[in-house]
Amino acid sequence: MRVPVLCYHRIETPPASAPSDSNFVSPSLFGEHLGVLSALGFTGVTVRDIAAWQHGQRELPQRPIAITFDDAYQSVVDEAVPRLQMYGWPATVYVVTSCIGGTNTWDLAAPRATLLDARALRVLSSRGYELGSHSRLHRRIRGLSEEDAASELAGSRLELEAFVEAEVTSFAFPYGSHDRRALDAVAAAGYASACTLKRWANRRHGNALRLGRMSVGGPLPAWQLAAKLIKLFAMPSFS
Ligand SMILES: [Zn+2]
Repeated sequence: MRVPVLCYHRIETPPASAPSDSNFVSPSLFGEHLGVLSALGFTGVTVRDIAAWQHGQRELPQRPIAITFDDAYQSVVDEAVPRLQMYGWPATVYVVTSCIGGTNTWDLAAPRATLLDARALRVLSSRGYELGSHSRLHRRIRGLSEEDAASELAGSRLELEAFVEAEVTSFAFPYGSHDRRALDAVAAAGYASACTLKRWANRRHGNALRLGRMSVGGPLPAWQLAAKLIKLFAMPSFS
């Protein structure tokens, strides 16, 4: 069995001022994506579930898939969660911990967007959604000094755990950027999993600290998402 992970950002219609629509999926299209995934027999799981499966601690349902959201935009709660609930699927939301309740200040080219605040994150966590870290400042981990990497990795984990009063075991590399040293730093910071943006579906004996994940954005019709998934399963995994 191989497990795909999908990476979404904002579940909103892109405003005319957006220089790119690659971080946007409209709410109705997101609903269509879930519909086609469900029709194909997929069942939503969290990234924490995948890591536990890889570590031999649990089994997964048949044809599992993990839906993830980077940056923790308000639209995840407003638009994605109600649609996920129709299928009873959980998801993993990756939080930039210095920006909780703020805006996407790291991305100067993109239109401003509200990020989930601590209360909303706690509600999500209490409803079975997994919260993972997406660093403190949304910096590329690759190339950081040891001290800065520790602040981005262990620092953000402790910060998020204090906010949501739950254990945080999953990390997603900002921009997918990582190297050998970054993987070691993620392990040293106590994470059980880390998502990249490498395009492969994950195997049981793969490296949970280098999970493959496919970006989904723009006006991607649901049938094209299905076609991309079929291609993803055909890609060799190098984790
Ligand atoms: Zn991000």
